[in-house]
Amino acid sequence: MEKLYENDSYIKNFKANIVDVKSDEDGSVLLVLDRTIFYPEGGGQPSDTGIIGNCRISHVFKKDKVIYHRADKKPDTLNDVDCRIDWERRFDFMQQHCGQHILSAAFGNLYGCNTIGFHLGEKYVTIDIDIQSLSEDDAKRAENVSNDIVFQNLPVTCHYPSKDELSKYKLRKQPTVEDNIRIVEIEGFDFCPCGGTHPSRTGDVGLIKIRKWEKYKNSVRVEFVCGNRALKDYQWKNDFINKASNILSSKDEDVLENISKMSIELCSLKKETKSLKDTVLSYESSDLYSKGEDVGGVRIVKKLFEDKDFKDIISLSGKIANHDNAVALLGLKSDSARMVFSRSHDININIGELFKEVLPIIGGKGGGGKFSAQGGGPDVSNLESALDAAYVILKNRYLK
Ligand SMILES: [Zn+2]
Repeated sequence: MEKLYENDSYIKNFKANIVDVKSDEDGSVLLVLDRTIFYPEGGGQPSDTGIIGNCRISHVFKKDKVIYHRADKKPDTLNDVDCRIDWERRFDFMQQHCGQHILSAAFGNLYGCNTIGFHLGEKYVTIDIDIQSLSEDDAKRAENVSNDIVFQNLPVTCHYPSKDELSKYKLRKQPTVEDNIRIVEIEGFDFCPCGGTHPSRTGDVGLIKIRKWEKYKNSVRVEFVCGNRALKDYQWKNDFINKASNILSSKDEDVLENISKMSIELCSLKKETKSLKDTVLSYESSDLYSKGEDVGGVRIVKKLFEDKDFKDIISLSGKIANHDNAVALLGLKSDSARMVFSRSHDININIGELFKEVLPIIGGKGGGGKFSAQGGGPDVSNLESALDAAYVILKNRYLK
């Protein structure tokens, strides 16, 4: 089988003969051609997709030196069939893949490190380099060297040396295959054994942009994008900065400083609000306590709230119970019914038991501790009745 993609990775259409039609284990149809431009998955590069005659090709792979094209149906004709690869997808892979050659070589040349992992994903591309750490400056230097190689628009060529000739090449990594070794050269800059598809000149790779990096096992994982992916990445980020600068009414270069300032301000405002809220709740609790009903020397505060945060109600309940001889029976009416009961330490009532007894009135389950209990149920319309019931039980049983 002739691999047309090896010599010219820019062929988008071709005609071929289907020489074999097989059925895969999962029932899908596998086509074998006499020649192909479909790159089979391998070396970290995903396979091409496209059309062969009346069939849609979703995946291409190599097994025992045969290239199989996974089709959605059986072909209606076998000879002189029109074939087409999804060019946008392929060109994207060519940009990312060749960008990887350049970036790996730049890291290798600058810092003497090897690329020990490569992944070409749907959105981002990563390489793992065997280096302990990477500084901002070091990453930028590798990025600048890489883009300089792009701007020089150097030829990318392939060599097929014999085993004896192989030693003449200063290879960045050793070949993983024994026969038909293919060396991809970025003129004067990098020699690397590779079977993938590459643009003919480095200019076609477009911008190479490192997005971020992190420590990964004993290496550093560098995430980057090339060509159209880099353009898209720049577009959304630029859009983002423009919108942020409009919201903040500041120049784009001042956005970060302004956000940092606002973040510090927000933090101190949050602290201030918390302390103010606490003061307000303390006053509110004293007010409620003073208005509470005195039953046999115990002050009962029964109140139903709306439009309040349940966290504040819990805090309020606790503050009421900080007074002498106090019981708080508080409810919050919102999407659901919620209650919190508390008592002071100087009276002996099991609040958990009381809570458990009235909770079913609002359709809830559960209980609580001796001093305090909280929970809720779906039955909002019965919330007032539940508080009333707790009050009656308290009055007639516990405080008699
Ligand atoms: Zn390659």
